[in-house]
Amino acid sequence: MNIDLVEYPDVFLRNISKEVTFPLDDKTKRLIKWMAKAMYQNLGIGLAAIQIGYELRIFIMDCTRAQNNYQVFINPKIIKTSDEMLTDYEGCLSAPGKQGEVKRYLRITINYKNEEGEEHTKTFYNLEARCIQHELDHLDGKLCIDYEKGEYSRDKHKSQTMVESDFRAKFDT
Ligand code: ZN
Repeated sequence: MNIDLVEYPDVFLRNISKEVTFPLDDKTKRLIKWMAKAMYQNLGIGLAAIQIGYELRIFIMDCTRAQNNYQVFINPKIIKTSDEMLTDYEGCLSAPGKQGEVKRYLRITINYKNEEGEEHTKTFYNLEARCIQHELDHLDGKLCIDYEKGEYSRDKHKSQTMVESDFRAKFDT
């Protein structure tokens, strides 16, 4: 069974996701499993809850492409970033066929909680660091296609025609 993703230009993707409270309820635990399924089905390396219809500060990542090795990040916060940045093209499962040229930190340290509510502070590099910054953007309603020549563009964000959300989460029914 395929899980529907919320896709650009759905305005739902512009929502600011909310902090998650612990302990996680069953619904949220189920949501995380659905996120993993959706990410692997679409051959992604990261996915935020908003992309399957839930405005919660949760994302998952698996840059190994092992299909069974994802990490869960809840209420993530940036602690430290490298001075060095790199501009590269990024795609997004929620914007099929589109790309953004995005400048990201090469290294990023974040603090987050896992599914058990345990706190972690960890440093990530290169592809994982880029993926995390992409997912953090999702939590704040930003998309990689909002960037112009590497920099985030408010104007481009605004000019992207967004339509009213018709997304219905299958998860609820
Ligand atoms: Zn994305």
